[in-house]
Amino acid sequence: MVPQRWLILCGVMLLVLAGCSRQNEALVPAPLIQPRLAASATATPERLTITPAAIATAVAPTAAPPPATSTPAPTATPAPPRVGIQVGHWKTADLPDELARFRTSTGAYSDGTSEAEVNLDIAQRVALLLEAEGIVVDLLPATLPVNYQADAFITIHADGSTSSSARGFKMATPWRTSAASQQLYETLLAEYAAGTGLPQDGAITVNMRGYYAFNWRRHRHAIAKTTPAVIIEMGYLTNSTDRAFFRDQPDRIATSIAAGVRRYLTERDLNDKDALIAREFTIHRAKSAGATVHATPSDSGRVLFTASDDTRFMPFREQNGWYEGVVRGEWRVIGWVRAEQWEATDEPFPTPTGQ
Ligand SMILES: [Zn+2]
Repeated sequence: MVPQRWLILCGVMLLVLAGCSRQNEALVPAPLIQPRLAASATATPERLTITPAAIATAVAPTAAPPPATSTPAPTATPAPPRVGIQVGHWKTADLPDELARFRTSTGAYSDGTSEAEVNLDIAQRVALLLEAEGIVVDLLPATLPVNYQADAFITIHADGSTSSSARGFKMATPWRTSAASQQLYETLLAEYAAGTGLPQDGAITVNMRGYYAFNWRRHRHAIAKTTPAVIIEMGYLTNSTDRAFFRDQPDRIATSIAAGVRRYLTERDLNDKDALIAREFTIHRAKSAGATVHATPSDSGRVLFTASDDTRFMPFREQNGWYEGVVRGEWRVIGWVRAEQWEATDEPFPTPTGQ
């Protein structure tokens, strides 16, 4: 990316945004780069797409074609990155039949504020920030386009609890974590924690990792297999401190999320296609009873669970000889086991699905 060019583009974009972007969009020539949305998508995402290519085409005088004798080197313009920002619980009534069970999933509600309202407010701010940098953003409702492909997908939520003292944010990758999703998670986590100063609630549930829109095996309206993805619960709508933060500092939240996405897009290795594919694991059983599940990948990490002969562990990530995963049937126990203490079985690996 050439910084000067982006500065100019940002300036132009502000001018475009100052007018009615939707109308201006109709006037500019079609972008050179076609959106990579699946043609079979039955749900049209709400799109705020103003691509740098479209703006450049709109404002740049058309260069005269080169003389036929010259052989200019081809100057391929790299496609701008595409990012999907999903507004959790937005338009759930429109969910397709395959997701009908989530049509009534309207999310958290507290003190006259619905989760979808908060999610939409933040998501729109994130979209504007990313678009100002030339990133193509799809602002997506609960229904994703079929096999949704993007350079990154973030689904935005706010939590609810019966305990008004529960607070802080949570983040998780899909159940099967690609290296790219993991990297997106780590950059988002670092930027969000530093940018908002909110505490982190580490109690990730299997339902979060099994979020329906991550589950491309089971649903057509889900991310594509290669789309890096993260779910974020920005904080608790049911906690007065977090709720006040949503209300009073939405730009701080949005800026932090945008910073995490931007950093991922800058730092990722575009040539590493393997990073986009999640490794497949099989169900494991402990080689001997007494094997332990730890909160961190370390023998000194807090012990969350001690295996019996019947225990089955479902890994979703390996790191330095440790598996991160969940104990089957103990869906709240997500932790780490020493890989050498466990062996693969040929039992089927279920995929949880949740909202
Ligand atoms: Zn939610």
